[in-house]
Amino acid sequence: SLVLVTGANGYIAAWIVRTLLEKGYRVRGTVRTEDKGRGLEKIFERFEQMFEFVVVPDITKVVNRVDICQYAMLIMIAHQDNAFDDAVKGVDAIAHTASPVNLNTEDPQDLIRPAVHGTESILRSALQDGSKVRRIVYTSSAAAALELGPKPRTFTEKDWNNQSVAEVERVGKDTSPINKYHASKTLAERAAWSFIENNKAVIKWDLVVLNPPLVYGPITHEVSTPSALGLTAGQFYDIVVDHSADAGGKTPEELRSTGNCWVDVRDLAEAQVLALQKHDAANERVIVSAGAFVWQEWLDVANSLAPTYLHSHGNLPKGVPITSPATEIVHQIQYDTSKADRLLGIKFRSKEDLVKDTFADYEARGW
Ligand code: NDP
Repeated sequence: SLVLVTGANGYIAAWIVRTLLEKGYRVRGTVRTEDKGRGLEKIFERFEQMFEFVVVPDITKVVNRVDICQYAMLIMIAHQDNAFDDAVKGVDAIAHTASPVNLNTEDPQDLIRPAVHGTESILRSALQDGSKVRRIVYTSSAAAALELGPKPRTFTEKDWNNQSVAEVERVGKDTSPINKYHASKTLAERAAWSFIENNKAVIKWDLVVLNPPLVYGPITHEVSTPSALGLTAGQFYDIVVDHSADAGGKTPEELRSTGNCWVDVRDLAEAQVLALQKHDAANERVIVSAGAFVWQEWLDVANSLAPTYLHSHGNLPKGVPITSPATEIVHQIQYDTSKADRLLGIKFRSKEDLVKDTFADYEARGW
């Protein structure tokens, strides 16, 4: 089978591509420039002819045109040319991941527009030109289910993040950077489900939405230095490794009180493949989370597992180690993962596995 992966050079997508190739799928990746495609060809050259790429410079591009039927001049046919029309031709399935992940934009629309229009665009192309497509897996985010409140809470697939969207509508560019990103993911996922609802009579494929929380773990795409890591892998490096041992500037109190939920990037890639394969996942929203953390827990694991890394790189940040988790730590955000368990049957890696392999990856890169 041939699977299209959008934004194939990204942190998560590169793992999806690799996992698909390792399982014998052929993969076509979309990237924004020729250079990024050539870079991926190099990374995946051991899979020989199994990987190809197409350049889609602007995922939001739509061109409306009106064709006049050659044989009956009176018949006018309205067409939309979408960014992914050529990319979807001949593919059996699609994993859509391309979306901006950054906290540096002022105008929330700089995140929202590509997130929403990119998602609608791939779905329209699949409908119009994806005659072989049977399934689309869209990487949303657990942020599309999460609302922040004063008390610890466990979220499920029934929950929606109306809070971030309302906040962006209320204060526009003055809302927090993370809120802008959360709103972009929520609106894009809503757009995907609306598309399915509005076109259900004619769609021949189904949609699976995966909602991962924060994604950490080794990298498999091209990154030259730690400062060039993407948002979450970079945040992990800054807080857990950070050779100045100041934990990304977090105070001991912040290390113990701030956190979220997490998933290993390799497990998320595995979940993507399972989501393509499992019949019962059709038209389901699935939270893919390994569990909760506060940053101090990562620091404790890192310090207990990495003596050689410690030795060669100086001190890791220590914070104040947790001695009694039940009394010292509160996880504010948790996710019910019974649906992922039931539909995908995924087994998640532990924090220890993630730290061990991520440090081995850093060492192999000479970081
Ligand atoms: P990366 O930044 O590593 O990858 C993002 C990908 O999307 C890149 O290929 C990037 O292309 C592409 N992209 C970004 N903006 C645009 C745009 N305006 N037009 C076209 N392509 C664009 O991010 P991740 O791998 O971390 O994230 C991948 C997906 O997973 C995203 O949808 C993200 O929201 C979602 N996600 C990520 C989580 C995480 O913790 N990392 C958690 C939950 C969901 P280019 O390199 O050219 O910029």
